[in-house]
Amino acid sequence: MMNRIQMIGAMVVAVALFLGSLVYYFVMDGAAPEDPDFRLNLATLRQVADSYEGPRPTEIRVEVLARDQIPFFAIHAGLDGTATVMARSVFQLKSGWGDSIIDVGMDRVIAERNNSGDTFDDDALSRVQQGLSAARRIVVTHEHPDHIALLARLSDMTGIAPKLRLTQKQIDGTARYSTDGKVPAALANLEPLDDSELVAVAPGVVMIPAAGHTPGNVMFYVHMADGSDILFVGDVVWNMKNIEERWGRPRMVQQYLMQTPEDRNPVLNQVAALADLKEAHPDVVFIPSHDDDHLTALIERDVLAPRFTP
Ligand SMILES: [Zn+2]
Repeated sequence: MMNRIQMIGAMVVAVALFLGSLVYYFVMDGAAPEDPDFRLNLATLRQVADSYEGPRPTEIRVEVLARDQIPFFAIHAGLDGTATVMARSVFQLKSGWGDSIIDVGMDRVIAERNNSGDTFDDDALSRVQQGLSAARRIVVTHEHPDHIALLARLSDMTGIAPKLRLTQKQIDGTARYSTDGKVPAALANLEPLDDSELVAVAPGVVMIPAAGHTPGNVMFYVHMADGSDILFVGDVVWNMKNIEERWGRPRMVQQYLMQTPEDRNPVLNQVAALADLKEAHPDVVFIPSHDDDHLTALIERDVLAPRFTP
């Protein structure tokens, strides 16, 4: 029979094992499937991109509205607590057809509500607003504040609304950021995009439905005029290491720290599909919205240019 000390020892070990498995489950596990049910076929993406008549984009420009920091394990499941910069970025595709904007960002009020207020760049926001006025097409990756909120904050949407191509779930998602909690009138009557298939939204630009991070989440593939392939992955991953290491976010973040819980299984299948695409086509450029180091490296390589131009 166990004496009292042995019994306490056994209980301590049991509790430690239990806590350890909780930490593993909620913080450390990011494994994406080997054989994902989500697939990205580059030949098909190029074909759909080229089906939209007109000159394809020649240049990609980026604005960063704010930069905040989170521990790396919140981005990439594990135990690495290194503070990692999340760039709140939006993109402008320059084209002879007319510019396209991918993600519109947020204003200072919404940034402050989401812990991005301290570094908010008002000059960047005014360039984004000029870019929206000058653009021919405006799309968003999903209905989170740092990507879509500005659409519910602008007082005059008359020039902007006709350029928008949004899914119904994205339109519905704007209500959260308007002052009266309703979908802005200018968006309520938009004809929604079909989110069940690939849709060309501008010459060279394809929307890829990818529900999971949010119900209205999509990615964008861009076939540039020079033939290069760009994939705007939005927030499917927050860092290139997620793609390179086939490894997703921790359950703790997905279940408790998102605006609404993220659907883990489809997101991990998308992470695996991105990893497979990268392996099969190493030249494809992946752009996770928030990977600040990667954005800087792409600017150094002249794949991206800093700041929007009118
Ligand atoms: Zn985001």
